Formats: sequence, structure tokens, C-alpha cells
Amino acid sequence: MELPFAESYKIKMVEPIRRSTREERERWIKEAHYNLFNLKSEHVFIDLLTDSGTGAMSDRQWSAMMLGDESYAGASSYFKMKEAIYNILGFPYFLPTHQGRAAENVLFSVLIKEGDFIPGNSHFDTTKGHIEFRKAHAVDLTIDEAANTQLEVPFKGNIDINKLERFLKEHPVSKVPFICMTVTNNTAGGQPVSMENLCGVSKLAKKYGIPVLFDSARFAENAYFIKMREKGYADKTIKEIVKEMYQYADYMTMSSKKDAIVNMGGFIGFKDEETFQKATVFNIMYEGYVTYGGMSGRDMNALAVGLDEGTEFDTLDNRIRQVAYLGQKLDEYGIPYQRPAGGHAIFVDAKRVLPNVPREEFPAQTLGVELYLEAGIRGVEIGAILADRDPETRENRYPELELLRLAIPRRTYTNNHMDVVAAALKNVFDRRDSITRGVVITKEAPILRHFTVELEKAK
Ligand SMILES: *Cc1c(COP(=O)(O)O)cnc(C)c1O
Repeated sequence: MELPFAESYKIKMVEPIRRSTREERERWIKEAHYNLFNLKSEHVFIDLLTDSGTGAMSDRQWSAMMLGDESYAGASSYFKMKEAIYNILGFPYFLPTHQGRAAENVLFSVLIKEGDFIPGNSHFDTTKGHIEFRKAHAVDLTIDEAANTQLEVPFKGNIDINKLERFLKEHPVSKVPFICMTVTNNTAGGQPVSMENLCGVSKLAKKYGIPVLFDSARFAENAYFIKMREKGYADKTIKEIVKEMYQYADYMTMSSKKDAIVNMGGFIGFKDEETFQKATVFNIMYEGYVTYGGMSGRDMNALAVGLDEGTEFDTLDNRIRQVAYLGQKLDEYGIPYQRPAGGHAIFVDAKRVLPNVPREEFPAQTLGVELYLEAGIRGVEIGAILADRDPETRENRYPELELLRLAIPRRTYTNNHMDVVAAALKNVFDRRDSITRGVVITKEAPILRHFTVELEKAK
């Protein structure tokens, strides 16, 4: 008999979590104004809000923490991080930042001017926020297939190269400071970008003399999918694939809370010294001195180890198989989600699960509230609330997809937890005909509203 798969780790430390009653959850979600971000974590049983900073560090990472050098300048932890970034990703210059959006803030302060255009493949919300905050425009040129959740396409995160070429022909190069490739494409469902696509973008960018930025939170998951799905990569190691991917990047911004498996941290990678020097000034102003930039020595140490572990095949195989496992359970129950299963999350297709809830009443948010009420599971809306208002017209933007993202923290939950999630979703799905009304906004912030928005049940 062929032996089944099992994780390549055992568990050394556990943290208790508690189930609650439906009555308790009714009260808590009302107090939270139907915004899942406002819930206390102790009121959540299975927390799939994000996989950012919520992973379980390894014994090697914890032991590296104890060796952290907390010197203000020239700490050995800085040099460990520098060495890991150079060896794994090939960037000779880097700046530590406290997380990914800080990396964006610093780098964009150098690169973006008012009125600029940043073409890319579905910019992440903070990335778009930092672009629009500078009165520039994020132009989403993801392939059209990404909008159809039921299409099985291996590299659904790709940019449409023809659309990109057309865009570059029609706009002055001086208004396009860089092209932004997000690997994996988080917004489109944790979908990977192929090596062929990255290479194609790089060729076009070179032709027009425009640099390429990789928004890199899940670059290792992207490399895993290249290994598993793209011709010619099956026998390459993840580290070899990562090296090849980053030949095509001039800059990278990294949220290390994802694929570097730390609770806090980020960085910017640079190939050229000039931009690095300019960004250094902003890093010192916003983040901290050059050799710590918003991170403690212990966290830089854990990050250096995490980059190494996070680019090992087994780490990625354990993780991505768990995401696929949840996907298979939903298949059994006929619950539609963005196909194929992504790297870090399952994105449930809320318009198909709750067809009776009008778009003005936010179907994905409504599904998130229902799933919480059902079993104390917390996901997050990737739909019209996240899409925010148009910065010029102030009208609501209704994206094609209304998704409920169930992000799976690394090495944190077991497949028994995944079974509970799938069963709870099935229960909501079974009573979909009775769910006809959603939620409406009572209070919102002018930018990145989803974090703090307040809602009430639609009447
Ligand atoms: C998480 C993320 C960011 C922002 O990083 P933070 O560490 O949350 O600030 C940027 N881009 C992508 C693709 C991300 O997933």
C-alpha cells in the first residue's frame, strides 16, 4: 500500500482555542459592527483572517531569536539578513522595514510622482493605497481568465502581456516609474505567475526602459507552483527557481510576515545603488536607522532563518497541500471557490454562494458574517468594501469578484480544523435561499476603509 502524505514536522508548543455559542457570537459580531476586524481574537475559534504574521515559527527560528544582536548600528543580525537576501534572492542592497506596506511607503516615496501610472497584475490593497495616496494610478492588467472563478488555469495570476504592451505604447515612459508584479497574485486568489510571464514582462520593460518591482510576499509559494506546473521546472529546487525569478526584478518589496514566516518584518531589495541611497533617507525618517529599519535584531535573525526554511520544498508542500485539502472538501460539498486552489488561501465565490444578496449589500462581507455566526470562523472580505471608492468620483467600486478569503496560517492549524471550516460553510450554503439581505455601511474611513468600516444589517 502506498503511504499517505504526512507533514514533515511535529508540534512542540500548543495554544488553546475556545468554541463559543451562537448566542455569544450574535452579540460579539453586533458589537463589532459586523466588521470581522473588530472582533477580539479570543472570540474567534478558527482564525483565517490572514496568513500574515500568524504562522508558527520553527525551533531553528526561535533559537535564532535568542542570538539577536540589538545594537543600534551594525548589528550582526542585520548582516545575517543581508546575507540571506543576497544568497536567496540576489539583491546586493536592501533596507529592513517593519512590514510590507512600510517597504512600499519608503520605495514609493522615491519612485512615484503625482499623475504616474503603475501597471501590474492586481495590486494588493496597501500597494494600491500607497499609489493612490500619491495621486498616481494603479492599472490592473491581469489576464481576463482570472475573473472567472470556475476556469482551471495554471497561472491565473499572470499579467496580460498584450494589454501591457498596448498600455506602454499609449503612455509616456516618464509617467510609468515601474511595473508592479505581485507574486503570487494575492487579490486574484493567491494565484501564481509563470516564469514565462515574468520573463515576458522583463523583456517588455527593458524595451521601454522601465524597471520592474516584484511585490514579493508569497514569492516562495509562487516558485512552488512553477515547479509543479510549468514545463521544465520539475527537477529544479525551489531556491534555483527563486534565483531565476529574481533575475527579472529590479526591486522587491517584501512582507516577511508571509513566506519568511515571522510575526513582524519586511524589507526592500534593490539591484542599483542609486535608488537604494535615495530610499535610505526615507527609511531613516519613517522606519529607523539603515541597519534595523523598524525591526529588532531578534526579528531580523528569525527572518534570515525563515527565508531559508520558507524556500525549502517540504515547507511549501506541507502548506499548499493543506490549502488544497480545504479546496477538495469544498468540492465534495459543491461550494464554488476561485479555482484552482491558491497558495495561501481559499477564496470562496460569494456571489455564487449567496446569489440573493444584492451587490450594494456586500455579498462577501455577508458570507463572512454568516460563517462567523455558524462556527466562530473568521475570514475576510475581498470584494466591494475592500475595493473602496473611486478616489476621484467617490463612487463605490464594484469589482467583478466578491470573494470571502479563508487564509490559512503556516503550520498553525490541522486538517481537522479544515474539516470544521468546510462543514460550517456547507451549513451556510444549505440555507442560502433564506439569506436575501446583506449589510450596509454606517461609517467609513476615506482610504483603506475595510479595516475600520462599521456596518449594520440591511433592512
Ligand atoms: C501582505 C501584503 C502586503 C503588505 O504587507 P504588510 O506586511 O501587511 O504590510 C503587500 N503586498 C502583498 C501581495 C501582500 O500580501
